[in-house]
Amino acid sequence: MVVSSLCFILYRQWVKHDEVEALERTLTQEKELNELKLRLFSMISHEFRTPLSVILLSSQLLKEILQESVDENKLKNLYRIQSSAKLMNQLITDLLTLTRAEAGKLDFNPQLINLETFCLNLLEDFQLFDTKQTVIHFIKYGRCYRANMDEKLLYSILSNLLLNAIKYSPQGGNIYLFLKCEVEATIFQVKDEGIGIPQHEQQKIYEPFYRGQNVENIVGTGLGLAVVKKCVELHQGEIFVESEVGVGTTFTVKIPH
Ligand code: ADP
Repeated sequence: MVVSSLCFILYRQWVKHDEVEALERTLTQEKELNELKLRLFSMISHEFRTPLSVILLSSQLLKEILQESVDENKLKNLYRIQSSAKLMNQLITDLLTLTRAEAGKLDFNPQLINLETFCLNLLEDFQLFDTKQTVIHFIKYGRCYRANMDEKLLYSILSNLLLNAIKYSPQGGNIYLFLKCEVEATIFQVKDEGIGIPQHEQQKIYEPFYRGQNVENIVGTGLGLAVVKKCVELHQGEIFVESEVGVGTTFTVKIPH
């Protein structure tokens, strides 16, 4: 009886040891695969970025030269080249950010930043590049001084949310950026009066490549919100959405201090 119990215990320990070894092997393989994926994406993105910048810069120069002499209607193909190149650039940046985040290699360098100045600078960038010429209303609540956040990641969060608000709104629709500074957290909200997101899709929109059923011919990659979510998570924050089809959408990002 004692001998058979001992044998059983030894057998179970041997099986457990084997299982642990197999798990360790799988983890190492997964880590190596992630490293490889990251190296591949970094290489691709680097190789693609240079010719893409040339396309963007050359088409911008061409536009400036032709704008004076050519009818706006005839410039349509040039605009198509520009928007496709921008979309591709965005796709590469988002893919690289996501791969880095999945490999646990997305840099997180929090530093004290002045939130109000940060938001105003971001909106200035938008006024420069937004071809729809949307007016974004900036509203601040509470006393906002400085907060410890990663500037690059925060830029990625807010610019993706604002780009979506513009993209999924009709021309001239109101867009708001709210900054609320509370004792324990900073809250950013981006509100629009656009197409809205169907209720049953509101949890799926953060999955990579997921696009809403009602986007029709509005172009996109389905990666923006996946990137936003990763950047929010690195700040130990949360993201919520409230939306109604045909009425509008509000994204709320809460980042604890
Ligand atoms: P993309 O906009 O490139 O499709 P995202 O990941 O940024 O990718 O968004 C995923 C989906 O969420 C979009 O395809 C769209 O259906 C929905 N969505 C995101 N933001 C908005 C918004 N402000 N208004 C309406 N729908 C939105």
